[in-house]
Amino acid sequence: MRVKGRTKWVYLFSEGSAKMVNLLGGKGANLAEMTGLKMPVPPGFVISTEGCTAYFESGGKLPDGMVRQVRKAMKEVEKAMSRRFGDPDDPLLVSVRSGARRSMPGMMETVLNVGLCTATIPGMIRQSGNERFVYDAYRRLITMYSDVVMEKAAGVEHKDEEMAVRPQLEKLMDAVKKEKGYKLDTELTAEDLKGLCEQYKVRVREVLGKGFPDDPWEQLWGGIGAVFQSWRGKRAIAYRQVEGIPEEWGTAVNVQTMVFGNMGNDSATGVAFTRDPATGDLHFYGEWLVNAQGEDVVAGIRTPNALNNYCKQPGLNDRLPSLEESMPDLYKQLVGIRNTLEAHYRDMQDIEFTIERGRLWMLQTRTGKRNGTAAIRMAVDMMEEGLIDEKAALLRVKPEQVDELLHPMLDPAAEKNARALARGLAAGPGGAIGKIVLSSERAHEQVGKGEKVILVRMETSPEDVKGMHAAQGILTARGGMTSHAALVARGWGKCCIVGCGELDIDYQARTVKADGQTLKEGDWISLNGTKGIVYEGKLSVVPADPEKNPWYKKLMEVADNTRRLGVRTNADRPIDAETAVRFGAEGIGLCRTEHMFFEGDRIVSMRKMILARSVEKRRKALDELLPLQREDFIGIFKALDGRPATIRFLDPPLHEFVPHDEPGQKEMAEAMGVSLQRIKEKVESLYEFNPMLGHRGCRLGITYPEITAMQARAVIEAAYEVKGAQAEIMIPLVGHVKELIHQKKIILEVFDQIKKEKKGQKAPEIKIGTMIEVPRGAVTADEIAAEAEFFSFGTNDLTQMGCGFSRDDAGKFLKEYVKLGIFEKDPFETLDREGVGELVRIAVEKGRKARPNLKLGICGEHGGDPRSIEFFHQVGLDYVSCSPFRVPIARLAAAQAALAGK
Ligand code: PEP
Ligand code: MG
Repeated sequence: MRVKGRTKWVYLFSEGSAKMVNLLGGKGANLAEMTGLKMPVPPGFVISTEGCTAYFESGGKLPDGMVRQVRKAMKEVEKAMSRRFGDPDDPLLVSVRSGARRSMPGMMETVLNVGLCTATIPGMIRQSGNERFVYDAYRRLITMYSDVVMEKAAGVEHKDEEMAVRPQLEKLMDAVKKEKGYKLDTELTAEDLKGLCEQYKVRVREVLGKGFPDDPWEQLWGGIGAVFQSWRGKRAIAYRQVEGIPEEWGTAVNVQTMVFGNMGNDSATGVAFTRDPATGDLHFYGEWLVNAQGEDVVAGIRTPNALNNYCKQPGLNDRLPSLEESMPDLYKQLVGIRNTLEAHYRDMQDIEFTIERGRLWMLQTRTGKRNGTAAIRMAVDMMEEGLIDEKAALLRVKPEQVDELLHPMLDPAAEKNARALARGLAAGPGGAIGKIVLSSERAHEQVGKGEKVILVRMETSPEDVKGMHAAQGILTARGGMTSHAALVARGWGKCCIVGCGELDIDYQARTVKADGQTLKEGDWISLNGTKGIVYEGKLSVVPADPEKNPWYKKLMEVADNTRRLGVRTNADRPIDAETAVRFGAEGIGLCRTEHMFFEGDRIVSMRKMILARSVEKRRKALDELLPLQREDFIGIFKALDGRPATIRFLDPPLHEFVPHDEPGQKEMAEAMGVSLQRIKEKVESLYEFNPMLGHRGCRLGITYPEITAMQARAVIEAAYEVKGAQAEIMIPLVGHVKELIHQKKIILEVFDQIKKEKKGQKAPEIKIGTMIEVPRGAVTADEIAAEAEFFSFGTNDLTQMGCGFSRDDAGKFLKEYVKLGIFEKDPFETLDREGVGELVRIAVEKGRKARPNLKLGICGEHGGDPRSIEFFHQVGLDYVSCSPFRVPIARLAAAQAALAGK
């Protein structure tokens, strides 16, 4: 809590816990938790996220009391380590890192080795006994500090990127390496590095106009300010927009004792997951590098070693020793920590560790990012291991993650015949095809033009997130399973291959060479992200088959036992109905019959009907359509095998069925045997200013009752033919009960007529109901319910008419509305609960009052949106209906809604 002058900004790790994530950020809260679990965490403290907000409020100054509290906390850290910050004899060095509430991998800044300066270097050399190591740490500090604090945080920009301080310093290093004939950085001697540090300091002053600070405290304050500042950096802002992270959260700053993985061959650093994040397998999964610092693993410059045999990748690191082989005792200790962390957090953790001269230190734990396949597998496995209960398992998988399982894969048959260009690490499963693009910018731009692209990079950096998001898939030449590209892609469930070392990417020539082949930017490639194979050309893709995944099936079974809401599908063809049933649909909630008027040459009969000048002629045209419609319905009832089908009668305005261009009109005139003029006049007469508010829905059936009669006959006769068919006839766009009465009368008359014709046969059960999609219909729902056996909310039209936003044109301004926060989400995607939702609530209450057993469903697009589904559960609907591929999402979302209500 912030109290003027007395706010607590700084928390020692021993004062915090995982529960304090909002205040301490994810990293800080978990370091505190691990400290509490008596794990080997290098001592340190956290400056709270409130401190970040206060820093910006005071125009980029550390707020009152923070400096004093940091000094006090540092004293405690010094005590724990028996070293002092800035002490010439035995100096304490610290890292300064960001840590937001939610992880934002690589999006903000870090400064390491803070505290190294002219005064502390000799003491550090004495203590470590390794002069080379100290100067290496010093040159890293100068590079990072000048780049992050003195340049980026200070807002210094250069016209030519090459003039920025980091490339300038790298040039100096390259020059020394060239002069001495070295290939690797590790060949630089202590003397070389010492000389380089002196050159670095001169160059920093030349580039930035001021010197690198030689005072440990000045370094620390600079580092803290720069981490705060990086919360408002370009890439952090871009990432927040994609991930929906609010600006006001701010980042915490973690100040922690440095431990070194680069102190020799008994030192190392690594990153691991407590289970395999790509598949969900129960295997400790990770990578490590001997004699290296943390960034070396994540940056993807050296291909890291595997943690154990399980993680070895053929052709990549299977010949390098695993940690289990190289340092068996430490590996065992790490496995112990892994077990404790999983049992404690009851979830997969993503950890970072460092080994300093044979001693293990834990630098981080956080809930690991995972793709959909892995999320489902882990949730079900953990439930079966007894680590979590059913409720936790259901809540652990985001409905959108189920979607990933339903995504396409490269067609295995096509793969067999395709030419494999290269192999890399399978970082994100599934298949993707697209045209090669070599920069994030270009990926974004091409996708904007409707192209499918694969972003191909040496490695990705946080600057690339926009293009990565836009691309179908991501392919990098460098990096391991924990590289930036792999982490980000996994978070998004995107197809991704990393560490594909065989690729020779030339950014200048805009080419990619592999397997003796030169591809240009714009050429097609295909990725198998499950196996890590890159193919030349555009392969075909096949839809996924989730039914083969036992974890998915189990999760769905648990979801089905938990949810109260039914889940149906919107489908117009038998094949879609079959797909939806395979995905678990319990029937059709909306069959839009207008789509059936376009197939084959049915449009001809439809147009005849539109042109007809007499009822007789109209009937004749409709008679041509009748058998075809009946066959459609027979197909649908068969596909549903006894499940109910809500069949909606003709809805769109008739102008949608006539051609609007001259060649089309000529063709129609010829087919109909009438003059072009006649067609033109008809098309003109059908023109409406607001067709969505015009002559459509039941208004058509009222003015042309023959259409309703024909459709009723088709449905009822089909229901006679298919045993067990459950037909629900639905009248669209009803706003007044008399509209429904009018249509119902026609349907009942037709039914009576058919009953007479089929005397002796058992009549099918036919229900008659209506859509509620006109606000007037919602507020007079009691009157309508007296005539309707069911309601289905058409929330697309209800949003259109309730908010007064044209469904076809609102895209132009709704994005801006969402950006400004007028609507949190596009109301056509996520139901506007307070407005349109209120209309639904009123209709539910009034409708049920008038008819207690009234069946209630929703078939607008919101039926497949998890947040809207929660609302439909709350207002007590009986089912939601959505497109076939969203059925599994809806099943899980409905279960989660039921759990939230308990
Ligand atoms: C609706 O309006 O929500 C609906 C389902 O009908 P349509 O989208 O066909 O207008
Ligand atoms: Mg509608």
